[in-house]
Amino acid sequence: MNQIYNFSAGPAMLPKEVMLIAQKEFLNWKNLGVSILEMSHRSEEFFNMTKKSIKILRKILNVPHSYEILFCHGGARGQFSAIPLNLIDKVTKADYINTGFWSLAAAIESKKYCNPNIINVKKIINNKVSILPIKDWLLSNNTVSYIHYCPNETIEGIAIHEEPTFTNKIVVGDFSSTILSRKINIENYSVIYAGAQKNIGPSGITLIIIKKNLLKISNIIKPPSILDYNLLSKSNSMFNTPSTFSWYLSFLVFQWIQQNGGLSHIEQENEKKSKLLYDTIDNTDFYINNISYKNRSKMNVVFNIFNTSLHKIFLKESHKIGLHSLKGHNFIGGIRASIYNAMPLKGVKKLVNFMLKFEKKYG
Ligand code: PMP
Repeated sequence: MNQIYNFSAGPAMLPKEVMLIAQKEFLNWKNLGVSILEMSHRSEEFFNMTKKSIKILRKILNVPHSYEILFCHGGARGQFSAIPLNLIDKVTKADYINTGFWSLAAAIESKKYCNPNIINVKKIINNKVSILPIKDWLLSNNTVSYIHYCPNETIEGIAIHEEPTFTNKIVVGDFSSTILSRKINIENYSVIYAGAQKNIGPSGITLIIIKKNLLKISNIIKPPSILDYNLLSKSNSMFNTPSTFSWYLSFLVFQWIQQNGGLSHIEQENEKKSKLLYDTIDNTDFYINNISYKNRSKMNVVFNIFNTSLHKIFLKESHKIGLHSLKGHNFIGGIRASIYNAMPLKGVKKLVNFMLKFEKKYG
């Protein structure tokens, strides 16, 4: 059988090694005679696993002890509500940076709870989409509760690689499709959140990293308990039953990152994979990527074929040889190769080989 490479944007492929451990332990976890799926989240063994997972994550992401690491339900979209519900205090305004589908969706959802000031930072320069440098963002003065932005727009393949370095501003980042893909300086953020189903683990669990002093905010709206950061913190992220299997698998992924050279190594690999793919696109007029070099995502490589009528054939033929889920999001169409941490360089090489042959055949 052909080796399958899965380029899905999420739920995305998981490291093979992780899947094999989960398979081996599935029926009898830690020799307890039961599956982890059947264990109480209040059992000592499960609790110890959660503690260990947080310890490893803190280490690989270099999260200072002045930050809390929380897990909850509801995915990243749940956080679109949780952020204003937890962070709006006396000021009911917030700055939302608009770079694409997901950052705009967060802003729209926030309208239920606050007055978002939606700031467009996308420009077309030389026919390429470009994001203004952070220093040029027209933020409100100190009249907002927080600034929200998305460093990696999963659908359009647009990324902001520079980090915000504001002083005295509460910066919130939707890191759903870029978390754990490279080193970041946590101290540049007040809250980071991410749905798990790309670089963390399976769907069903959401990561929140929050500055501890923000847990003391006296917010004017009381968040639902399951989204209340303060309550989540006091209950070790177990106010209600967590998604136990997703948490366990995420733990295995954190271990996998740690055992594979940590984020330095992961970052280098991601650099190689994305460079190979973008170089292939740039070396021809057959494929097009319309994002400025500095804002190209290293996780979601989005491109079109100049003759768009070939998209369907490209997807059909690539699938036939084991290159799966390359269809662009319905919102914009085209092709999207999501190359998260678990995608090996070998998978990208196979895709590039296919692209070159496809161009020869139809170009
Ligand atoms: N933000 C970003 C950047 C995403 O990529 C996604 C999902 N692809 C979401 C938010 C929504 O995530 P969820 O489905 O976990 O709510």
